[in-house]
Amino acid sequence: MHFHVLTLFPEMVSQGLSESILGRAAKKGCIELEAVNIRDYTENKHKKVDDYPYGGGAGMLMQAQPVYDACAAVKERIAMRRAEEGTPIPDAADEKGELPRVRVIYVTPQGEVFTQQMAEELAREEDLIFLCGHYEGIDERVLEEVVTDYVSIGDYVLTGGELPAMVMIDAVSRMVPGVLKNEESAETESFQGGLLEYPQYTRPEVWHDRPVPPVLLSGDHSKVEKWRLEQSEERTRQRRPELYEAYSRTDRAVSYLSKDRLSHMDMLEVIRRGQADVIRAEESGVLLHDRPSGAWMLSASDEDMGERLLSEIPREEKELLFLVHQAFLRDSIARRFHRNLVNECIQAVYTRKRPPACAADFMVRPLVPQNVDAVYESYHAVHSRTYLLERIEAGEMFGIDENGRLAAFAGTHAEGSMGMLEVLPDHRRRGMGEALEACLIARQLEKGWVPFCQIFDGNEPSLRLQKKLGLKLASGRLYWIS
Ligand code: SAM
Repeated sequence: MHFHVLTLFPEMVSQGLSESILGRAAKKGCIELEAVNIRDYTENKHKKVDDYPYGGGAGMLMQAQPVYDACAAVKERIAMRRAEEGTPIPDAADEKGELPRVRVIYVTPQGEVFTQQMAEELAREEDLIFLCGHYEGIDERVLEEVVTDYVSIGDYVLTGGELPAMVMIDAVSRMVPGVLKNEESAETESFQGGLLEYPQYTRPEVWHDRPVPPVLLSGDHSKVEKWRLEQSEERTRQRRPELYEAYSRTDRAVSYLSKDRLSHMDMLEVIRRGQADVIRAEESGVLLHDRPSGAWMLSASDEDMGERLLSEIPREEKELLFLVHQAFLRDSIARRFHRNLVNECIQAVYTRKRPPACAADFMVRPLVPQNVDAVYESYHAVHSRTYLLERIEAGEMFGIDENGRLAAFAGTHAEGSMGMLEVLPDHRRRGMGEALEACLIARQLEKGWVPFCQIFDGNEPSLRLQKKLGLKLASGRLYWIS
């Protein structure tokens, strides 16, 4: 993971992050930090980087030119490094066709407030650029040109963006494999699972006449786990009632969806993978919003509940995408939102813990952006070229080559289902589809997920493949509506 910090005080950042766990992680090569002095890029002969705001007002503003040039220089270095590593990404260039698309985070009190969830999401990036403001901030025009994310570390104003960038780098680094010695410790801490951590104790057994809770000395692992969960729940309820409410909603959602696990594996998985907001969860229905795909996912046991869930979805959103589990919801969406582009699917779930044994032995490789046209030519019926490129850039599409040309490909959709499987006509009936899906299944199992896919109604070859690989078919149907 590579962090690049654009700042007027590079030493503050590099020194601040050079000690302890992050210092060790940098030495091991798990993370890399580049602190870039914006002042080095100013065209002003006196090295000035700020000026008075137009319209008057207190303080100085950082000027657009040095910020823009510092950012462009970092992107050029990223492009060169990636080219050297063998992952050139010319197709992923920005609108000017020159530089790679990398997230540029402006740390600002005007941004979305940073959370653990955001840290987890950012940890999946290969490079992150942080832009630190100073004085009264930065000229709006350069922000509009380079910034992809506006993030605040809380509702208070600091003198500069260096501490916020360091706070974020610390939280993101902890999610990068290899940074923490004991991988477990990131998993049991506050916020993971939506709860605050339970109280902890160390030697001595009695201190100031206060003994350690006896259950922790019992040696009974399951009793300890139960006690810790109760403590976490109680602590969260008392100290952070809004977190506790979200946790209880998730609990209710899981219990409704688990009544028919196979049919609802898509919704259970987006919850498990930490990518969905549980908007509403009742005994007879659940509404989720999946962040990566933007899809509204619904299941209800009766029409009345269905109507109540639908009433929670903002109508003003331009591009609404729905995944619903009942035909009455499909019909109601057609009436309410005037949508009728429907794909009816059957869900298939891989319930085993080990990946399927696959007879055919093909070399499966990740696709690169140069493959997007080949993929789009044979798979444009459902998805746009932009979507396919986005999936390739996310490292979620794989292919098999034959005679130097792409012969088959498959990938994982934004919400997490496996799909987009296509074997080009000359290469069929040789097990390429099976090899690709087995590879996707293995990748998902490694992450502790339950692999699933959704097959268009009537796609008999795909249904046969799912059965061959050992996936179980759900009894219910589901409907994607866009
Ligand atoms: N005038 C700006 C405003 O009202 O939004 C505040 C400027 S602040 C004094 C200077 C810089 O500190 C900002 O440009 C930003 O980079 C950083 N900063 C201050 N408070 C922050 C916060 N809560 N979260 C993230 N960055 C912050």
